[in-house]
Amino acid sequence: MKLHEFQAKQVLGRFGVATPRGVEAQSVDAAVAAYHELKSPVAVVKAQIHAGGRGKAGGVKVCKSEAEVRAAAAAILGKTLVTHQTGPEGQLVRRLWVESGSAIDKEYYIGIAIDRESQGPVMMASSEGGMEIEEVAATHPEKILRAAFSPTKGLAAAEGARLAAGIGIPAALQPKAVEFMQALAKAFCELDCSIAEINPLVTTKDGQVVALDAKINFDDNALFRHDDMVALRDLHEEQPLEIEASKYNLNYIKLDGSIGCMVNGAGLAMATMDVIKLYGGEPANFLDVGGGASAEQVTAAFKILLADPNTKAILVNIFGGIMKCDVIAQGVITAAREVKLSVPLVVRLEGTNVELGRKMLSESGLPIITASNLDDAAAKAVATLKK
Ligand code: ADP
Ligand code: MG
Repeated sequence: MKLHEFQAKQVLGRFGVATPRGVEAQSVDAAVAAYHELKSPVAVVKAQIHAGGRGKAGGVKVCKSEAEVRAAAAAILGKTLVTHQTGPEGQLVRRLWVESGSAIDKEYYIGIAIDRESQGPVMMASSEGGMEIEEVAATHPEKILRAAFSPTKGLAAAEGARLAAGIGIPAALQPKAVEFMQALAKAFCELDCSIAEINPLVTTKDGQVVALDAKINFDDNALFRHDDMVALRDLHEEQPLEIEASKYNLNYIKLDGSIGCMVNGAGLAMATMDVIKLYGGEPANFLDVGGGASAEQVTAAFKILLADPNTKAILVNIFGGIMKCDVIAQGVITAAREVKLSVPLVVRLEGTNVELGRKMLSESGLPIITASNLDDAAAKAVATLKK
């Protein structure tokens, strides 16, 4: 789950992360009122969507008067912003954040992610603020400094100091920068984040160290212990099919291809996507129905695949261990009866109760193409697209 920038700033602020003062606004008039409330000569009107790259797309405007705030808010609200993170369809702006403008001296980058190598959180810091970190990693990897830290002990002051000095924060502001980093690290661990990114972190002309942007993603598996964060979820920002999948506890991610996949187990799901690509196809989604899915979950999963207009064929690849093949068969049959099966369906079943599952499918009257193994299944699914 993700937060909006303004929510992330409010949440991080509780941990002592320094952020500019700001007010949320959902209308032009509210934005103007926010400007007066802030009493800041310079205000920044910022589109709130779950994607970065807003600045370059016209979603961040620095304003010096009421008239400028009014014009900026009118221009951004209701606009579909297309950034490099939204995809070509863009994202509709429904909310604004009006915050006091900072007199930026220099922009930096600070981010925290989970690092597989050290098997824990790692803070990354760079002098190249405002740029995409992926781009910095590709072109100037030496400009990204790292500090792995313990999720229980937090970021050691000495490590923070090493990063702050290493990215060139002026000596006088390094203690503030270390405080900032430690507060961010604490928030990351206590909130069970998967990503916390401040891009840019800035030093200001009046000697502040402030987060001008903030991005937080949570580890969904830990959301059960953060009801207050779940309350901040904005469904407008999520894919409708992914929302539907989350209701049934399905691990579903929509992709751009045309072959819908229903698989049990994340590893097998990844392998299935790979083999589809190997045969020249593109998966329409990642979908792991899990180890012990019920017929209801399988039915929901199948309906989700069919609801995606890009799906031109469906590949069901199940290796029944804990998951039983007859449960899968029942789910597929129920869903296909409730929603018209409008695309070819290739099924590869193996494992527990496989004979029963195959019998149920063959007696269902559904036009199913059966496959004997994963290669065969992928080849047949891709072949249906060429007819
Ligand atoms: P995005 O990453 O989506 O483009 P940011 O919040 O990083 O959005 O804003 C883009 C740029 O706008 C920043 O790099 C910074 O230069 C400027 N900016 C953002 N907020 C402020 C602010 N409060 N004061 C001054 N400049 C700002
Ligand atoms: Mg940014």
